[in-house]
Amino acid sequence: MRKQHIVISGAGFAGLTLARKLNNRPGIRVTLIEQYNFHQFQPLLYQVASAGLDAGNISFPLRKIFQRSNNTTIEMGKITRVLPGSNLLVTSNGILSYDILVLATGCSTNFFGNDNLRRYALPMKSTYNAIGVRNKLLQNLEALSRNAGNRSLDHLYNIVIAGGGPTGVELSGAFAELRNKVLPKDYPGLDCSRINIYLLEKGKRLLPSMSEKSGIQSEQYLTSLGVHVICDTGVTDFNGKTVILDNDTKIQSGLLIWAAGISGNIPDGIDPACINQQNRLYVDGYSRVKTYENIYAVGDVSIMSLHHHPDGHPQVCKVANDQGSLLAKNLLHSLKGKKGKPFRYKDLGTMATVGRNKAVVDGFPFAHAHFKGWIAWMMWMGFHLYKLLGVKNKIQVFVNWAYKYFTYDQNLRLIIRPDDKDIPELYDHNSSDMKAKQADDFSSGSHSVPMSGVLTEK
Ligand SMILES: Cc1cc2nc3c(=O)[nH]c(=O)nc-3n(C[C@H](O)[C@H](O)[C@H](O)COP(=O)(O)OP(=O)(O)OC[C@H]3O[C@@H](n4cnc5c(N)ncnc54)[C@H](O)[C@@H]3O)c2cc1C
Repeated sequence: MRKQHIVISGAGFAGLTLARKLNNRPGIRVTLIEQYNFHQFQPLLYQVASAGLDAGNISFPLRKIFQRSNNTTIEMGKITRVLPGSNLLVTSNGILSYDILVLATGCSTNFFGNDNLRRYALPMKSTYNAIGVRNKLLQNLEALSRNAGNRSLDHLYNIVIAGGGPTGVELSGAFAELRNKVLPKDYPGLDCSRINIYLLEKGKRLLPSMSEKSGIQSEQYLTSLGVHVICDTGVTDFNGKTVILDNDTKIQSGLLIWAAGISGNIPDGIDPACINQQNRLYVDGYSRVKTYENIYAVGDVSIMSLHHHPDGHPQVCKVANDQGSLLAKNLLHSLKGKKGKPFRYKDLGTMATVGRNKAVVDGFPFAHAHFKGWIAWMMWMGFHLYKLLGVKNKIQVFVNWAYKYFTYDQNLRLIIRPDDKDIPELYDHNSSDMKAKQADDFSSGSHSVPMSGVLTEK
């Protein structure tokens, strides 16, 4: 019997959960196509950026996860276009056909159309981004240390983080601990008390997705660590040296980290009527993209408006995992001609950490629970260790945290930059257009165009 071909685009929390649940199941074959060759644990990216963890500790090679699979093919590449009429995909490797397509492509940073921000501010959405932030921070410190007393480099003393959600709060807390405890030892010639960390939030308070108590508590923690928290203030521009705020004040800075907006990653070819303003795909309760029979979307890139969550679900790991998991069950049921179940989200709470013994937890273990301080910090660490993929990674992260707890120090302050030529060409739009033409020719029956990459039988 011909096996159904399920193509999953993106090996984040949603796509990877789905692929693992479909692994070695009869009657289907799965292609998991991901632009990196690893899964990344985004909640701990901030620790890579602040030199607290090694990038390898929070990444997991996809091929290792599926070493024993007899129905899953891993493909490192990027989906650039969908041709829904002919069930074909244009990828950075060639053309791929599918019976069922699942978009689990997550989100990327939204600079809201500001080219200066795109050019000069640093995003925090991937392991590459986190290493980029760490490099820039350390390079700025090296420049300051080489040029002590050079006033023209004073802007390098100021670090600005835009966005007071969990990423901004966790990052600014980690930078403050680095500045307070580690940098004075690394750079004895530098006056580290001159290093300022600014956290800017456009809304009235920090952690808008958590309770008011948590927002206020996290601000108190950050202030006690010496972070300048400025709410009700947004960033409008940055030229690499000056951050301009929406109240017309300016902060001289050589490092702006942008954690203030995200936008869904949707390949070309999807009907714009299925896409909302934040570039997310409208899906029904079964994760099916509205108007399509065989295209689904799960995780951050999707927006599912249900009775309990009329504005969609929060963009967090648990929603992505649960949606991936349920979709796997529903797809397997549909193979047997059975009807699946609609999604229902069970919220197990939210948490954020600011630093050593400083964290906030809401909604766990029951809806109105709230914890702060040491106990919340322990809960945060326990939960993240439990969720991290791979026993080796769990042990390494635990050892790192224990070492840091007792010594306040790690040996991860490395400036590591790959040569440009080492970075895979993932955003080659010209070649994507060429491949789209090849796909059109293929679907219209003309086979005269040579095809590169993977071409699977329809
Ligand atoms: C810095 C940071 C901290 C966070 N902290 C927390 C936290 O503490 N707790 C929490 O619950 N949530 C947190 N989140 C949110 C959480 O990480 C997301 O909700 C979750 O990752 C969503 O999972 P996903 O599978 O939908 O997308 P992702 O995990 O983003 O995965 C999408 C995958 O698709 C790949 N991809 C994208 N486009 C393409 C393409 N065209 N072709 C092929 N592959 C593609 C990407 O490389 C990526 O691997 C955080 C997010 C960030 C950025």
